[in-house]
This record gives sequence, structure tokens and C-alpha cells, in this order.
Amino acid sequence: MTTVGVLALQGSFNEHMAALRKIGVKGVEVRKPEQLESVDSLIIPGGESTTMAKLAHYHNLFPALREFVNSGKPVWGTCAGLIFLANKAVGLKTGGQELVGGLNCTVHRNFFGSQLQSFETELSVPKLAKQEGGPDACRGVFIRAPAILEVGPDVEILADYPVTSDNLASMAPSDEDKENEMGPLDRVIVAVRQGNLLGTAFHPELTADTRWHSLFLRMGEVKGERSLQCASASNSD
Ligand code: GLN
Repeated sequence: MTTVGVLALQGSFNEHMAALRKIGVKGVEVRKPEQLESVDSLIIPGGESTTMAKLAHYHNLFPALREFVNSGKPVWGTCAGLIFLANKAVGLKTGGQELVGGLNCTVHRNFFGSQLQSFETELSVPKLAKQEGGPDACRGVFIRAPAILEVGPDVEILADYPVTSDNLASMAPSDEDKENEMGPLDRVIVAVRQGNLLGTAFHPELTADTRWHSLFLRMGEVKGERSLQCASASNSD
């Protein structure tokens, strides 16, 4: 039976554990580097990425987390976990934050603003419906949420979200953003897949819809490149 590790330093790890229980999968809370040796895949939950990075640093987890990402085993970052997995993070108060990296994208840490600007919306994720059944739509719970501003060619976009004057207003331009020299964005990316890595800017573990967890588990069942991309190629014609 597959064992899913859930990084349990801070944030919504309990909710991920509960979602795994709901679909009958064994979840293990991970707090020490050696615990990563006995899990088949890893979820890095949402929370507060600076705090999580400080705790990960304190427990000497970064080398083991990077090794895990590079091993090809599935890793899913939700919200702060997505920030952890990004190769680059920009946005206010990003300075000095350590990242695990591996996901070829640039994330804006607080794109959608502060706690007060948290929101729920319906997202269209055709790939989720194709893989797991059910409707294209899924509930997106965005809490002080990040957004992905740009991705590399090896990254598959699973869901995006329109940039409106409301959420643009919350995107206070920082020096790092100016350095990016990115023009105005019509849409930002909120869910991606790159090989063994899955990233969502929102929190599926806070909804009753366990399809994201099922999809993540499937990434572990299908080894190597025979993954979503293959499935999408065969489904797209
Ligand atoms: N924006 C938050 C951060 O920088 C993440 C919020 C979340 O995980 N809900 O850590």
C-alpha cells in the first residue's frame, strides 16, 4: 500500500491527512528528514511559507526535500507548498526566503492580497474531470493566495484565473516585480503539473472534493513520463 507523506511543520497538514483518510490512503506526518525515506510521495501543505521555511531550516529538512523532489517521486505543493516548490518567488516580503525549488515557474507569494482578500471561486479544470471524472468545475479556496506568473515550457497549465481590477489592486508592485519586467497579465496560473510535481495555489484539502488527492495518487501509480501529459495527448483528439 502506498504511503503519502504530509509535511507537518505548520499549516493545513491535518486537513490533507483527513482527505487521504477519506479516500482510504495511508498518510504519514513528516517532520524529520529521515521520515522521507519511508514515504512514496509527499504533500507540502499551505500555511505561511516564511514560517514553514524557518521550521524546515531548523529541522535540516531542505537537503532531504530537494533530494525527494529530484528522486522523481510525486510531490504536491498547495499554496505555501507551491511557493516552496517554485524555482523563483517574487512579491512582498519574499527577501531571504529559502525555497525547495524544482518547479520551473515564478510564483508571486501574495498575488491575491492579504487574509482579508481571501476568496472562494469556481475553477475550470478539464484535466481533473478527464482523469478523475465528475464536472470540469472544482471549488478553489484561495487564502492569502499566491499565483504563478510564468512557467517554463515543460510545465503543463491545469487551471488559470482572470486578473480583475480587484485582484490587480491587491498586487502591490514590489521591486522584485519590476525586475521581472512582466507586462500586464490578463490571467494568472493557479494549478500546474511538471513531471512528478503538482502545484495548486488554492486549497483542495479544505473542500469535500477529493479528486485532486486522487489525481496526485495516480501520479505515483504511473511511473516516469507516462503521466497526465500522455493521458492528455490521448484524450485531446
Ligand atoms: N501567501 C502565503 C505565504 O506566503 C501562503 C498562504 C497559504 O498557504 N494559504 O506563505
